[in-house]
Amino acid sequence: MEVPRGADLLKYQRVVIDQETCISCGACVAVCPVSALELAEDNFKSTLLWDKCIDDFSCIGVCPVNAIHKTSEAPQELKARNGWYRFSRELSDDEKRFFEEWRKKYGVTGNPK
Ligand code: SF4
Repeated sequence: MEVPRGADLLKYQRVVIDQETCISCGACVAVCPVSALELAEDNFKSTLLWDKCIDDFSCIGVCPVNAIHKTSEAPQELKARNGWYRFSRELSDDEKRFFEEWRKKYGVTGNPK
């Protein structure tokens, strides 16, 4: 499956990860069809690769501790945390604008890793 680029990045709401609840089991990482999740090298918590997510949402159902939420349904407190997502590559200037639009639309005030 192709990962999105350019204006296609505007299509997705993505997921928010509650790293304090995550028990690092790796189930979400294993099930994602586009490898949009990883266990971070520093804390071993699930981390979203923002630019890769295509709203597959399989990750939500396999998490044993309900640590993953659709962005549209995620508690504000989680969206305000830093470091639960990062970029897998350098975004173009247009793509950076799309990222800012996503933040605004969903009220994501936390910063990427
Ligand atoms: S499935 Fe849930 S507990 Fe397991 S690594 Fe992913 S977010 Fe963490």
